[in-house]
Amino acid sequence: MDNKFPGKDITLEDLKTKFPLCAKKHKKHKSQFNISGVSFGRNTIPIFAGPNMVESRKLILDVAKNVKKIGAHFLRGGAFKPLTFPYRSKKYNETREKGIEWLYEAKKKYNIPVITEVMEEKFIPLVSEVADILQIGSRNMQNFPFLSACAKTMKPIMLKRHYGASLRDWLGAAEYILYEGNKKVILCERGVSVPHTHRSTSRFLLDLQVIPAAQEITHLPIVSDPSHATFWRPWVRSMTLASVAAGADGIMLEVHPDPKNSAVDPLQPIDYKEFASIIKNINSISKIIYKKKNFINYLL
Ligand code: PEP
Ligand code: MN
Repeated sequence: MDNKFPGKDITLEDLKTKFPLCAKKHKKHKSQFNISGVSFGRNTIPIFAGPNMVESRKLILDVAKNVKKIGAHFLRGGAFKPLTFPYRSKKYNETREKGIEWLYEAKKKYNIPVITEVMEEKFIPLVSEVADILQIGSRNMQNFPFLSACAKTMKPIMLKRHYGASLRDWLGAAEYILYEGNKKVILCERGVSVPHTHRSTSRFLLDLQVIPAAQEITHLPIVSDPSHATFWRPWVRSMTLASVAAGADGIMLEVHPDPKNSAVDPLQPIDYKEFASIIKNINSISKIIYKKKNFINYLL
């Protein structure tokens, strides 16, 4: 079979038979849609910012106020968290239903749309009431019945790439969502695992190459999450800018007022000052390379 994309695990045939809905119909085909006043696939780079976890009411209100002021388009934060180990200190408790309430309060008070993870089918209705975008975490990327159930809400969905998934697997998962008639699908690269024989410089490795690779094949917007990928605050700026240069359609960043004391993954969040400075850099880079602008005028 002809392989239009040598070296990749995607063939020309796959575009027609495996993910016809994800695949571009022509070279310039790009999905353009609006989520809560923010446009995707156009001349903007939407920014998703917030803590890893919705730790407390006070925290999420503070973050919402500050990231909105600095220029974030969406407030992120997990109330339901896929934590790697089952043990919890008091600090590590998921805030669950309470956290969703606090996100709602922050959203209303500061007029900022919200993206938050949903992990279980039974919580889809609750999370959908508050979230402007349902986040499907990397660990659920191939939970196909769950993908279909989320898709049926017709809420916009961000599908994070599993750290072991190929582009083919990732697009196959996105196809399940599109297949339900839900067209507002955003892909998010968040770092891949490297084989233990080739130890990475960090927990995950940001697959910058998947951005142009995905852009060749799919019309869906592709967001990059350098916080989860690097797992290391000092590298977040350079990998964010590299993502923009590579053609990312949006950026997700972990932002916390006191990063070292973040309840989850304290090595990766950046503080407000760093966030503001990175946003300036994103603007400069995107103006030079793509003539894009990441700010959208809010009526503050
Ligand atoms: C997150 O964004 O908080 C998260 C858990 O991400 P991932 O699913 O990519 O690990
Ligand atoms: Mn996380």
